[in-house]
Amino acid sequence: MFAQVALPIPLRSLFTYSLPPDCCAAPGTLVLVPVGKTRQVGILWTITAQPAYSGEIRPIVELLEERPLLNDELRHLLEWIAHYYLAPIGSVLAAAMPGHLRFQKRRRVCWNNLPIPEKLPAPLLPLAQWLQQKKALSEETLAGKIARPLLKQQLQQLLRLDLIRLEEHWHGRQESSASESNPNILPSADPPNLTAEQAQQAQIIEEALQQRCYHPFLLHGITGSGKTELYLRAVEQVLLLGRQALLLVPEIALTPQLIERYQARFQATLAVFHSRLSEAQRFNFWQQIRDGRARVVIGARSAIFAPFADLGLIVVDEEHDSSYKQEGGVPYQGRDMAVVRARQAKAVLILGSATPSLESLANARHGRYTLLTLTQRATGANLPSVEMVHTAEAIRQQQMRFGDLLSPTLRQALLDTLAAGQQALLFLNRRGFAPSLLCRRCGHAIQCPHCSVTLTLHKAKQLLLCHYCDFRQNLQDVCPACGQLSLFAFGPGTERLHEELSHFLPNARIARLDRDTVSSGLLDLENTLRAFRDGQLDLLIGTQMVAKGHHFPGLALVGVVQAETTLCQPDFRAAERTFQLLTQVAGRAGREEGSPGRVLVQSFDPSHYALQAVLSHDVHGFVNTEMAYRQEAGYPPFHRLAMLRFSCAALQEGNDFSDLLKAHLPSFDQVQLLGPAPAPLFKLRNCYRWQLLIKELKTGQLHRALHALLPLVLSLANPRIRLDWDVDPYSFV
Ligand code: ADP
Ligand code: ZN
Repeated sequence: MFAQVALPIPLRSLFTYSLPPDCCAAPGTLVLVPVGKTRQVGILWTITAQPAYSGEIRPIVELLEERPLLNDELRHLLEWIAHYYLAPIGSVLAAAMPGHLRFQKRRRVCWNNLPIPEKLPAPLLPLAQWLQQKKALSEETLAGKIARPLLKQQLQQLLRLDLIRLEEHWHGRQESSASESNPNILPSADPPNLTAEQAQQAQIIEEALQQRCYHPFLLHGITGSGKTELYLRAVEQVLLLGRQALLLVPEIALTPQLIERYQARFQATLAVFHSRLSEAQRFNFWQQIRDGRARVVIGARSAIFAPFADLGLIVVDEEHDSSYKQEGGVPYQGRDMAVVRARQAKAVLILGSATPSLESLANARHGRYTLLTLTQRATGANLPSVEMVHTAEAIRQQQMRFGDLLSPTLRQALLDTLAAGQQALLFLNRRGFAPSLLCRRCGHAIQCPHCSVTLTLHKAKQLLLCHYCDFRQNLQDVCPACGQLSLFAFGPGTERLHEELSHFLPNARIARLDRDTVSSGLLDLENTLRAFRDGQLDLLIGTQMVAKGHHFPGLALVGVVQAETTLCQPDFRAAERTFQLLTQVAGRAGREEGSPGRVLVQSFDPSHYALQAVLSHDVHGFVNTEMAYRQEAGYPPFHRLAMLRFSCAALQEGNDFSDLLKAHLPSFDQVQLLGPAPAPLFKLRNCYRWQLLIKELKTGQLHRALHALLPLVLSLANPRIRLDWDVDPYSFV
């Protein structure tokens, strides 16, 4: 018998090993196999009677578990991904199971269950007593208490006395931790009675759950309409049916309140995948999910790969969110994988959003998803009133200067809000003090030496930083091009906004949430959100971190400082993203009954259709306009795209490859090839980048072209050319 084994390395093939004759392993089991001079953990993919390889075949070393970790459903999903995204199966495996397959030999010291001899030398006594008491300890634990050289010596002595033995083990295998419960969370009061609208939709979802069939829903409900309450009900239903539920959220760290709501209802059977889990905890969760002990799972996109035994429901919260798209590695779209997985598992799928993606809306229009809508806020509150502030006009009338972040209208609104004892949120989707440092005299902008972008000014740190490669240099006064003392900070950033507001509102309690304040430990995300919710802060400044899902009862005013920061991106989805983001941010205001919120959007050109649609809460108007543009330009959701990116550290070599590829590109019937051409972000981390856009002109033709291109490109490239395929791309720089 032979085993085809998938290893988590970026190779397109499976590896052949022999199995012992009496082996009763099933596909999907974790195995340890020899690779060159080392050993590696992989997944037994298939078992065959004949070897699929003609060279020397070595036996597998060990089955690491009795039960398969990946069931057939999951292995098929991974194969599907490899095919659809043109990715090596090994890379898909590595993406699906981060960390689980890294082989680390660890040693444990085990006490041999003998009494401590009376003649034991005194220096050995503490260690011996400790081991006798604990029975077994890992080397790491011991090394944490006793210096390594001393430890080694004492152990050696205990070994000679036959008091202990050393056991090797595979990391994570013996380690187990009880499922974490959070003692701070009290079980919630009784769930609210559903509104008439909610009840109607809940009924439809419940009927679908009872059928135990694949049934996809698009739940389009305005912000605060009680979508989460419907998810909770659906999860309850699926548990009653004895099946499991998966809730995907864009980013775990950004949704503490949501997690708390789930924890309050499903504490005992809930597994929350967050980035702070250790590998052992993660692996432990996997086992709990496979064995059906964890019944409700919340996680970001990679949780779609968890080994559910019987998945009955997948909820994708904020389904339009671009963080479902994995960038780098295997660039899969987690929301789309949820569709594939739900179909495989015969599960109900709920894609929920206040601002659904055009892809999902198109699917609903074509009858592929059942559309459910919620049009009222569950608490009875009204949507906030949105007003535009025309900054270009205000500058023309000399009410503000070019470069000022706050218009007189927004200033007055802030004063009024704070005077009334209410809270305000200011949104600016750009961190740092200013996105560039420019020379007033010669116009030079200071660039990253490794990337073709300007360096962002971080004033408090006195640094210029590259937001792509993390290059940093000290802040300078002298222009490197003309040698004059004429540099100035150009453009908006949250740090600058914070500074301006501190001067303008010296007595206000202000906090700023962005990746800088959170990752530097300056502010704790959860505590800051809680402090704002509890009214201990007057004003919160934030990037898109603050846009999602939060519920702030005292929030009366939301200010969008510059709509252009998202609108002016070289990306066909820029208008859609701006509409979604601003609608989400606006939705934070006035969520309680009786306190209508106010939203001010500052823009140089408020006449843009995406902004006008935010103004009137007109999702349908926006979608219709945008759909027409997309159709005309041949973009998704009408035509699928794929992107081949290639990069090379040597400019000439990259150029040569680009020419070579161009010369060899075939022509396809219903598929258009655009490029290869230099990428907008031409240099990134010292590599030069090109891209080839592949666009289908007729539905269903894309993959035929891609699978014809793949071998061609592989045969032309050399190992110094890095190739990245991106199917359904979300990034175009
Ligand atoms: P969404 O997920 O659509 O933004 P939520 O489910 O978070 O909306 O609901 C918004 C607010 O309304 C929450 O505070 C929630 O507790 C409350 N809520 C939801 N459903 C009801 C209901 N049927 N009756 C009263 N309050 C509700
Ligand atoms: Zn850089």
